[in-house]
Amino acid sequence: MTNRELCERYPFLIPSNRWSGMKVTDPQAQKGGFWPGNPEAVLEPYEYDYTELDDMPEGWRRAFGEQMCEEIREELLKTGGEKALEDYRITQIKEKFGALRWYTNWTTDAIEKIIDKYTALSEHICIRCGKLATHISLGWISPYCDDCAAELSKTGYIDFAPIDDAEDAYLILPETEFT
Ligand SMILES: [Zn+2]
Repeated sequence: MTNRELCERYPFLIPSNRWSGMKVTDPQAQKGGFWPGNPEAVLEPYEYDYTELDDMPEGWRRAFGEQMCEEIREELLKTGGEKALEDYRITQIKEKFGALRWYTNWTTDAIEKIIDKYTALSEHICIRCGKLATHISLGWISPYCDDCAAELSKTGYIDFAPIDDAEDAYLILPETEFT
């Protein structure tokens, strides 16, 4: 799907202002003032050159990105129809401690279940290419497949453990990292 198709089917992927909630496609945003701290800022017209999904690591996006959006879309429509679909927006997508984080402005139990499912899945999908993960990087924890782990090992900057020992990787982190 192109970015434009993604934004039309999944309006929550349209970049929005974290504080005001204004979407970049809002006519008011197009006139400037998208960033509250700098009302004079001139915003280039939005050309669908980026979406919130760009913040999802490439491997995860390839493996399940659009599928996850589709499931959330269906649940939103079931919950509150088109209005729910329009009101729901992403505040942040990222990786943390080797797993997907998907933050939004509101949620429901059913939507949380979908997010939990993909969060658990992300721990077993190569963050780089989307294949099944067999290794976990140590230090900055992330899941990798055989090929990517082998390739990155060559740099000498990253150490890996088999994913069966993933728990060990968590144990070597300072406790403060989890607060
Ligand atoms: Zn890989």
